[in-house]
Amino acid sequence: MEPFDPITSARGVGPVLGRRLAEAGCRRIADLLAHLPVRYEDRRALGRLPGRGDDSSEGPEEPLTVVVRLEKLRRVFGRRRFSRVEAVAHDGENRIGVVWFNRPYLVNQLDEDASYLLHGVPRRRGGDGDWQLANPTVERVDEEPAGGGVRPVYGRIGDVPPSRVERLVHGAVSRLTESRGSDWIDEWLPIEERARHGLPSLAEALTAVHCPSTEASVEALNERRSPAHARLAYGEFLLQQLQLAAGRRRRSRHGKPHRYESFDAAERVARELLPFRLTRAQERVLEEIETDLLGRRPMLRLVQGDVGCGKTVLAALACLVAARSGLQSALMAPTELLAEQHFASLRRLLGSHLALALVTSSQRVASDGCGAVLERVADGRIDLTIGTHALIQERTRFACLGLAVVDEQHRFGVVQRQALAQKGQRPDLLVMTATPIPRSLALTVYGDLDVSLVDEMPPGRSPVETRVLTEKHRDEAVDLVRQRLRRGGRAYVVFPLIDSGEGSAAGLPSLEKSGAWWAEALAGTHGVVHGRLGREERDETMSRFSTGSIRVLLATTVIEVGVDVPEATAMVILGAERFGLAQLHQLRGRIGRGTDQTLGEPICIAISGGSSAEAERRLAVFEASTDGFRIAEEDLRQRGPGEVLGTRQAGLPQFRFGDLARDWKWLVAARADAGRLLDRLAEPGKEPLRRQLERRIPALGASAEGTAEP
Ligand code: ADP
Ligand code: MG
Repeated sequence: MEPFDPITSARGVGPVLGRRLAEAGCRRIADLLAHLPVRYEDRRALGRLPGRGDDSSEGPEEPLTVVVRLEKLRRVFGRRRFSRVEAVAHDGENRIGVVWFNRPYLVNQLDEDASYLLHGVPRRRGGDGDWQLANPTVERVDEEPAGGGVRPVYGRIGDVPPSRVERLVHGAVSRLTESRGSDWIDEWLPIEERARHGLPSLAEALTAVHCPSTEASVEALNERRSPAHARLAYGEFLLQQLQLAAGRRRRSRHGKPHRYESFDAAERVARELLPFRLTRAQERVLEEIETDLLGRRPMLRLVQGDVGCGKTVLAALACLVAARSGLQSALMAPTELLAEQHFASLRRLLGSHLALALVTSSQRVASDGCGAVLERVADGRIDLTIGTHALIQERTRFACLGLAVVDEQHRFGVVQRQALAQKGQRPDLLVMTATPIPRSLALTVYGDLDVSLVDEMPPGRSPVETRVLTEKHRDEAVDLVRQRLRRGGRAYVVFPLIDSGEGSAAGLPSLEKSGAWWAEALAGTHGVVHGRLGREERDETMSRFSTGSIRVLLATTVIEVGVDVPEATAMVILGAERFGLAQLHQLRGRIGRGTDQTLGEPICIAISGGSSAEAERRLAVFEASTDGFRIAEEDLRQRGPGEVLGTRQAGLPQFRFGDLARDWKWLVAARADAGRLLDRLAEPGKEPLRRQLERRIPALGASAEGTAEP
């Protein structure tokens, strides 16, 4: 028997069963093996029943698996139509009462003489030392089970019941292992990829999911986060991404007109300029950018990374390389404030090596010499132009735009991204975002962007401690914030609304209603910013906050994007139940950006006005994790890809092993690897992968048509 033989070659599968399986899409042995267990039961602790009055040291909440004989099996009728089945289980030493509710048929299915495996959590019944096992799973054991182990539980295939499926799968795995050894199904993933990600081989992965070892983590198996599951998901994603990459390749035959000098010189300069060392993640992404820039076709790359991971410096280095190659670059930010901040910090960093300019729509032409600036951009004297949407306005022209950078790209639409690109001739495009999914996930699945991850924080950041409190405890929040203020920190208080008249907002805290209370409670010099203030007033307040003449900022979510005040170490978010996870996380990213240890540990307090279970779950995730990727994944899980990806739902590709929410990191990895592999499919060692690709198969990789050859 071979893995890709027809299903009827499995022992015990005759023509009839073969047809039933085939009707459910299971035509070959491999299809059977692609049918993963739906869950796993931990039966490693094959135990002893707690005796009467037994002072169980394991604690009563531990699940227990025991082999027993049943005695005194009977059905007991309770009030109304309810009945239960009771028995006494006996393991040769002790007895324990067993009861099943709502499963009256058990009384006919179970026998007093037979042996059974019970799995459940024993609890004390009353105070007299008697134990009871309620609703345990029960399974007949013909022979004494060998140890128990971690047992996979299957779903049905078509109308073939789980127990039958289990026997078939295990029969197939053991026969294949006997006849073909431990590499019983051919590996097609290149060894480099497997090694890089530390993934098991296909045979190892399938063995691990179907016949878990006794050391396996049941939790990981159940959540489908085991290395074996990762291997299967990654393999599936890789094939899909190779197909997408091949398509992208076909679309982008045209090269770009400009060329970059080698990175070496620019990098040496850059590294001397930087007051810190790049993190490993930054180095990796920089290399990806470098490869793109030096390549023939225009870069189209999305850099994702949590707030504060240091994306800007990567863009800055790329701009420096462009300038040294005689090319202009542009950096577009979603707000004026952010553009100004970038301008100030990049001028500090790069000012002696290239000419920078700031272009925003509110620049007063006369005093800022805006006209003159635009002229210098247009004739190529400015190397790096930083600005807002003003960059894509008619009046802004470039002499030779080689590199376009879009910061916080989730704030822009695709149209604006393209408009910026149209300011040059097929310029390289770098887009950056701190909101990884959902949009970027969609892009990863369908889109035209390559994706890089900066999944590491610069050293020295203290993670932001997060607390979720109710309205009743706002005094506690005040205390915590005042502690930070006393140490020299600054604080944000974020309101969901400006005034309480807005929308259906009964009872939600608003700036107008509660602002004064918070200002007084925190007793710091305070300022107010929200979207209805004029830009000048807003910017004025922001910059006073940033210089420290204002210590407390009462604000709406206008502060969500980009504001960089390293001294801000406290944040209170009011009406937190109203915000989505991604937005909460984005807000929290405004604090804890500094490395000044004397300011103490940054704190974010989400005050929730009590609400739905869903909001509670959301806030629990927010409280427990500061990892933006984890949060984005959870957001996707809670809202589902349908909600998150909106109308594109119908077009979502179906994956057999991979799950877009759970495994999206593997999807991103597969995408990066696919880009690399596409050019190397002809190399030795890649034939198996090439063959899989040519067959274009789902699941395990072999063609659904069932050619006998793997
Ligand atoms: P974001 O990814 O949110 O745009 P920034 O690029 O604004 O993050 O970086 C946040 C802060 O971290 C900046 O002050 C920046 O200078 C600093 N930073 C970036 N990279 C490093 C690093 N490798 N080591 C130390 N500090 C860094
Ligand atoms: Mg940034």
